[in-house]
Amino acid sequence: MSGLRLMAVHAHPDDESSKGAATTAKYAAEGNEVLVVTLTGGEAGSILNPAMDTPGVLERIHEIRREEMAAAAAALGVRQTWLGFVDSGLPEGDPPPPLPEGSFALVPLEEATEALVRVVREFRPHVMTTYDETGGYPHPDHIRCYEVSVAAFEAAGDPARFPGAGEPWTPLKLYYNHGFSLRRLERFAEEYDRLGEPFPLQEWLDRSRKYAVERGDVMSRVTTQIECSEYFPQRDGALLAHATQIDPNGAFFAIPLDLQKRVWPTEEFELAQTRVKTALPEHDLFAGIGDEHR
Ligand SMILES: [Zn+2]
Repeated sequence: MSGLRLMAVHAHPDDESSKGAATTAKYAAEGNEVLVVTLTGGEAGSILNPAMDTPGVLERIHEIRREEMAAAAAALGVRQTWLGFVDSGLPEGDPPPPLPEGSFALVPLEEATEALVRVVREFRPHVMTTYDETGGYPHPDHIRCYEVSVAAFEAAGDPARFPGAGEPWTPLKLYYNHGFSLRRLERFAEEYDRLGEPFPLQEWLDRSRKYAVERGDVMSRVTTQIECSEYFPQRDGALLAHATQIDPNGAFFAIPLDLQKRVWPTEEFELAQTRVKTALPEHDLFAGIGDEHR
C-alpha cells in the first residue's frame, strides 16, 4: 500500500542512517511520505572519521553536520526536519560530569513534547518509530528521544493537550528500532566460519554477547521484520554522507553487501503501541492500516 505517512524520530543527525534507514528508503520508494525528525543538531559530536579531521572542520562542525544530514536524507529519498534542541553529548567519567546547561536532556519533557506534537500534527503520520526505553544505548538524548516520542504519540490526538500546537492528529502505530541484535551478528559470524574466513566484527560480537547475558538479545522483543535489502546501498550512501561521523573503513562497512543481503535481508522493529488490529509477527509497518485511515 502506498500514500501513507511514516515519521522516524531520531536523537542526532546520523542516527536515521544507522537505525532503520533501509526501511525508510523502501517506504519512500514505494510511494509513501517519509519524514525524519532530528531532535538535536549533533553539536557535541566530535570528528569520528580520521580522514575528515582536517583544519577548519571542527570550527564549522554545526554547519557541516547540517550539510551532511541533507545529503543523507537525499540518499534515502526522505524528507527531514530539525526540532532545534542542543545535543547533550555523552557524559563520560566516574562520576559522569553534569549535562551542559540548556542541552536537550535538560529541557522539560512538556516543552520538548509540545515541539514534537507540533510536527506530528503538521505531518500527520500513520506510523512513528523511535528507540526503546533504554535508548538503544545509554546516551541521554536517546533516552529522551524515547520519552518525548511516547509522550507525543499519546498527546498529538488529544485536543486538550497543547491546543496551540495545531489540529489534533492520532498516529496509529508506534515502533521501537532494534537494529543491533546479537542474533544478526552471530549469523554473519557463522557465515564467515562456513567460508573459513576470520570474522571482521569479532570484538563487536563479543561485546554484544556480554550485553545479551545481562539484558537478553533484542531479537526477543522484535515483532516486525521488514525485508529491505534492495535498499542497503541507499542506507550505506546515507551513512557515508555523514562523513565527519562515519569512518568508511569502520564496522558499518565490514560485511560485504551481498553477504548481508543473503544472510540478513531485514531490519527489525518492536510494535510498542497500536490503535489498529494487526497480527504478529508482522512484515509491514503499515499492517492493519486501511483506506479508512487515510
Ligand atoms: Zn545518536
